[in-house]
Amino acid sequence: MHNKSKVLLLKYGEIVLKGLNRKSFEKLLGENIINALRNYKNKSGRKDLFFKIEREQSIMTVRCEDINFDIEDIIPVLTKVFGIVAVNPAVEIAGKNIEKIKETALEYISPMLEGKKSFGVFAKRSDKSFPLKSPEIALQVGDILFENNKNIKVDLKNPEVWVAVEVRNNGVFMHAEKHRGAGGMPSGSNGRGLLLLSGGIDSPVAGYMTARRGMKISALHFTSEPYTSERSREKTIKLAGILSEYCGEIKFYSVCLTEIQESIRKYCREDYAVILLRRFMVRIAGIIAGEDKYNYDCLITGESLGQVASQTIEAVKVIYDGINMPVFRPCIGLDKYQIIEMAEKIGTYETSVEPYDDCCALFTPRHPVTKPKLGRVLGEENRIEDIQGLIDRAVAEIRCEIL
Ligand code: ATP
Ligand code: MG
Repeated sequence: MHNKSKVLLLKYGEIVLKGLNRKSFEKLLGENIINALRNYKNKSGRKDLFFKIEREQSIMTVRCEDINFDIEDIIPVLTKVFGIVAVNPAVEIAGKNIEKIKETALEYISPMLEGKKSFGVFAKRSDKSFPLKSPEIALQVGDILFENNKNIKVDLKNPEVWVAVEVRNNGVFMHAEKHRGAGGMPSGSNGRGLLLLSGGIDSPVAGYMTARRGMKISALHFTSEPYTSERSREKTIKLAGILSEYCGEIKFYSVCLTEIQESIRKYCREDYAVILLRRFMVRIAGIIAGEDKYNYDCLITGESLGQVASQTIEAVKVIYDGINMPVFRPCIGLDKYQIIEMAEKIGTYETSVEPYDDCCALFTPRHPVTKPKLGRVLGEENRIEDIQGLIDRAVAEIRCEIL
């Protein structure tokens, strides 16, 4: 088959339900696809590649002008774009008539059925001017495929291969292969969130889950040089880079907490160190998120209830006391195995388990409080000199990279 007749059909799920907003969701998805493909071009060094994207009757089609380029190479890029539920590599049939459809079925689909036990044909006639109705199209295509694949059975309930014929306004397409997409909503369709990203397993998963619901995310990472290394920061940047394959460009901020940590160590009880540090982290994140030039709607963390001493309900209450913006914790109800499974699926796990030094793990108390009381924590915190100065200096030194 000529590469030129190959096209990718992109199916989107939830967007279709969006009523009046649907057009804007589709537009955003289109832009995200263009960005993902631009990224692909830059990475592959093939700047001359030109993709044509069309939106028609609730799906998108992607074609490539270069007939030597195998369009299936970009399937892994597109299945990561949030909002796409499935990608079908399809053949485009020249001419809208049933004879051509049958010819193409023989040439393109028949070889795909070799060695298979069963198949079914499904036809969809979105172009109502086509003279045959869907069941008739399916029947004729099914017949010719059955005649040419002697050992195969027809199964219209649960076949090994579903063959689809789609007669649409912008062309006739046939396919027998489906790649599952990441699903969710297009990135940027649902607010802006600031993800507290450590180098661990949970926070990248938390970022993925919120981004999958359409939130445009940026990452904020806390360091503590020289106690934490540049390698640790780079590892976290790598994690943010993996997330950006799904949700497009990510801004990566880092803030150094060394002076704050040294003050906590100097002035406060050891068993309150982690709670106090986390209060600073959250406060700084809240300040950055709320500033006009950043303007985020919420914070996102990888906390999971009861996972560690700082994630008991008492600790969470104390750590977030006084924060006046929503905090999303999508991992809250997941146990570690579920989070790991997800991290493996999205491709962050391997990087997350590389050794790194997190600032939370520094000066870790031997017996951290698990049921801290707010009054007690504030008492400890108030021993620290010039809290506002510490916070201001940390915020002022913020670094930003764009991934
Ligand atoms: P992770 O959740 O990434 O696996 P963790 O399991 O070590 O990290 P904690 O140290 O309790 O969990 O942190 C809870 C949450 O706080 C993290 O999920 C993350 O959102 C945030 N966090 C922890 N350390 C950092 C850091 N160095 N920079 C930014 N956010 C952090
Ligand atoms: Mg965790």
